[in-house]
Amino acid sequence: MTFASLGLIDPLLRALDVLEYKTPTPVQSQAIPAILNGRDLMAAAQTGTGKTAGFALPMMQRLTAAATVVASNSVLALVLVPTRELAEQVHQSFRAYGQYLPLRTYAIYGGVAINPQMMKLRKGIDVIVATPGRLLDLHRQNAVKFDQLQILVLDEADRMLDLGFARELDAVFAALPKKRQTLLFSATFSDAISKMAARVLHDPLSIEASPRNTAARSVKQWVIPVDKKNKADLFSHLLRTRRWGQVLVFVKTRKGVEQLVQTLLAQRISADSIHGDKPQAARQRALDSFKAGAVQILVATDVAARGLDIDDLPLVVNFDLPIVAEDYIHRIGRTGRAGATGEAISLVCADEVDLLAAIETLTRATLPREEEEGFEPDHRVPLTNAAGQVVKKPKKPKKPKVFAAPAKTATKLAAKPAARRRAR
Ligand code: AMP
Repeated sequence: MTFASLGLIDPLLRALDVLEYKTPTPVQSQAIPAILNGRDLMAAAQTGTGKTAGFALPMMQRLTAAATVVASNSVLALVLVPTRELAEQVHQSFRAYGQYLPLRTYAIYGGVAINPQMMKLRKGIDVIVATPGRLLDLHRQNAVKFDQLQILVLDEADRMLDLGFARELDAVFAALPKKRQTLLFSATFSDAISKMAARVLHDPLSIEASPRNTAARSVKQWVIPVDKKNKADLFSHLLRTRRWGQVLVFVKTRKGVEQLVQTLLAQRISADSIHGDKPQAARQRALDSFKAGAVQILVATDVAARGLDIDDLPLVVNFDLPIVAEDYIHRIGRTGRAGATGEAISLVCADEVDLLAAIETLTRATLPREEEEGFEPDHRVPLTNAAGQVVKKPKKPKKPKVFAAPAKTATKLAAKPAARRRAR
């Protein structure tokens, strides 16, 4: 199948040529014709499936065909995303795919000055990629109006709900024209997402680009059991002995992120971080330097887990396991993208066994374990079984109490626990 056979117009095909996209990915071949036909869409698609082009290409084509003159402070298409980084990234994709089209696109998000955004909106914009909070701020101040809105995209809808944007999303829905095309992309479909989909989508086409809740197959995943206090040493040891190149490392807390970065910097290893406490500009700088290869280790909280598209990332390390099992899938989705193979290694301590079990339940697979010589844990990580459950240690049979009873009875009592043990 080719992009031309999906009915895309020449300026888009030329851009795809420049980007060297030869064949549509499965989500693109399903989504593009449906969106071109004006259908609403509900897509189970993770990042790495090519979903951004899957919605951006047909959207731009429809906007071009409609040739609506955008009024000042108005917008024709709105893409809502959970994080600032993703807003920038999706916006860059629109720019790349639309390089031969006269469409105006813009990204708006919080954490940066609002005035330049207000100025930019004055002329009217064809496509805005936005995080919900800042968009609503601008809407309340009349800097952006939705009367002309034709297309709404909810990208990473599950993540938006996880991050607590439900109320903001409702406020945006209430402000939009009822007659519009709506496209919803989500890696997972919880009850909350399904309910939202039922409310905002009209007769949607459902597509599933990759099986729900399964981790990418091309990613080799394994666990190294280790004591909590030795995790940082183990990480430095692996980095050295296995000659790792660039690594994206996930740590549970912001404080933990900074501690690891400091430890690495003290060892003259180039490292930077992204987490919610950092100003947006610093977050973007860290990400850009990592993407450019100037920084070897990027340490992040789950803020960075979704959506970020980092080319050819060979390795993701879970320094801590995520609290929400689904985040595991998003984290390791940063590697093994677009057919490349990747590795995802989790450093797991005894405290985290329940989190490990939850991940194994979700992915329906037991993660192989490999201890690292010199780092074998004192506190053993209990075994988990294929169903992702922690295997309880068999209770030691109680020693039978032997009373001063006739020899025959005492033998009988002593035999009982052993028989029970066998029956277990
Ligand atoms: P996404 O899932 O939208 O984040 O895209 C993942 C990566 O795949 C991005 O780096 C895209 O540039 C790339 N990509 C998307 N579609 C194609 C395609 N048809 N051929 C080659 N690369 C693609």
